[in-house]
Amino acid sequence: MTELATPPTEQSTELKRISHWIGGKSVQGTSGRTSPVYNPAVGEQAAEVDLATAEEVGAAVAAARAAFPAWRATSLAKRAEILFAIRELVHERREEVARILTAEHGKVLSDAMGEVTRGLEVIEFACGIPHLLKGGMTEQASTGVDVYSIRQPLGVVAGITPFNFPAMVPMWMWGPAIACGNTFVLKPSEKDPSASVWTAELLKEAGLPDGVFNVVHGDKVAVDAILEHPDVAAVSFVGSTPIARYIYETGTKHGKRVQALGGAKNHMIVLPDADIDMAADAAVSAAYGSAGERCMAISQVVAVGDAGDRLVEAIKLRLPKIKVGNGLDDGVEMGPLVTREHRDKVASYIEGGAAQGATVVVDGRETAPEGDGFFLGVTLLDDVTPSMDAYKDEIFGPVLGVTRVGTYDEAVKLVNENPYGNGTAIFTRDGGAARQFQFEVEAGMVGINVPIPVPVAYYSFGGWKASLFGDTHIYGPEGINFYTRGKVVTSRWPDPHGSRVDLGFPQTR
Ligand code: NAD
Repeated sequence: MTELATPPTEQSTELKRISHWIGGKSVQGTSGRTSPVYNPAVGEQAAEVDLATAEEVGAAVAAARAAFPAWRATSLAKRAEILFAIRELVHERREEVARILTAEHGKVLSDAMGEVTRGLEVIEFACGIPHLLKGGMTEQASTGVDVYSIRQPLGVVAGITPFNFPAMVPMWMWGPAIACGNTFVLKPSEKDPSASVWTAELLKEAGLPDGVFNVVHGDKVAVDAILEHPDVAAVSFVGSTPIARYIYETGTKHGKRVQALGGAKNHMIVLPDADIDMAADAAVSAAYGSAGERCMAISQVVAVGDAGDRLVEAIKLRLPKIKVGNGLDDGVEMGPLVTREHRDKVASYIEGGAAQGATVVVDGRETAPEGDGFFLGVTLLDDVTPSMDAYKDEIFGPVLGVTRVGTYDEAVKLVNENPYGNGTAIFTRDGGAARQFQFEVEAGMVGINVPIPVPVAYYSFGGWKASLFGDTHIYGPEGINFYTRGKVVTSRWPDPHGSRVDLGFPQTR
């Protein structure tokens, strides 16, 4: 990210400007600092986004704070009605936002539509908020005494999101957060910020009161202002592991509740008894979809025993058919990387892998479409070992590594010794092996013959180890818990007959 972006240039004054959204309206930034936003398929700057000062973050938090009392007092019936209206509008206009995603992120249009659909599932879940906030009740816990539990919103909560899902990951946060009665400040990725402004306009149109949802664009300056602001009660973060750790440590140091989801290195184990064609289809789809820029992408296959040769051959056969190009063009299956720097960094792992002893079966540098777009073709590296950088690092691009091992135990050991623990998958026809894998593997999300096991919206999403800092996973039941705090009420209605002074510790009678 650009920590200290350059002031706007003469050329940039002609560019589309992307501004903050505070208190229900667009607010131009005053910092004089901006960051470029590219169309990665053509390799040109398309817009510039304002980078907020700490004061501008303060204005967004103040707007959210002012909106909180009325929003938390809004009935659950009314909140649900607004969420249903949001759901309908997003559904109706999903192609519009998908086109924005393709233009700024680069993912192909069908994939962008998939992103919006998966995000919508979380909004649909949040529509059930009256049911989700039902507490417990015990009548006659003591004589004449009832006890019940309720969950209440936290206040102003913030979301800081990554570039790779500019619509869906914010939905994971603001959907449940506002349903629970909180007000929200979103700090989206500065690489593809337009979807968040689109969202803000849509929420207003759906009837969400001004100030309940705010957007501040920015870099470390804005993030630090959020983390240090005394009126921000909680922070949800999704992004890379070093920043997730920083957000967790800094946010909690400032007394906030924090859930910080980090990076990943997702392994897919293929046992010799697996259906090799199905495993190859899954590996190719999960490794190269969205150009590998998914935290749940499969970046590492672990082939056990004689599955290796058959699997590498089957994957290799599929790769020449993948159509790479502008995500808006018909038939294109994989778009560009998000920036030129990121494309170059991903490409460096091909050279590095070869230098460290991997076999380059297919080299994506040779098949990238021509032009200035940030393209890289698909790459397959075989004989990757755990000491190689291509194995150790989250490459976050269309590079799939294959590691060969002799036994299931060696394969599981690799997954469990990996510092990340986001998702993992096993491909096998052996139910016993699959069950043992589910039992012992150290990762938060597990697929059995399913390569990208992103949980449905009524479960929660989250990894283990360096893929998550904090105690709660995101969306689903854990999301509702994260955005609320519990209160237990013990009540007795006046009964003059039983009233007396008693200095002892309260006991049930
Ligand atoms: P990133 O960590 O660079 O940025 C994420 C957010 O943090 C952005 O809003 C960015 O502006 C901000 N940020 C960046 N550097 C910062 C700094 N020094 N101080 C304060 N804030 C900073 O991540 P990215 O490149 O946008 O996204 C890709 C990463 O996100 C990958 O590692 C991917 O695995 C991860 N990711 C994880 C999940 C998950 O659910 N675990 C989901 C999506 C993406």
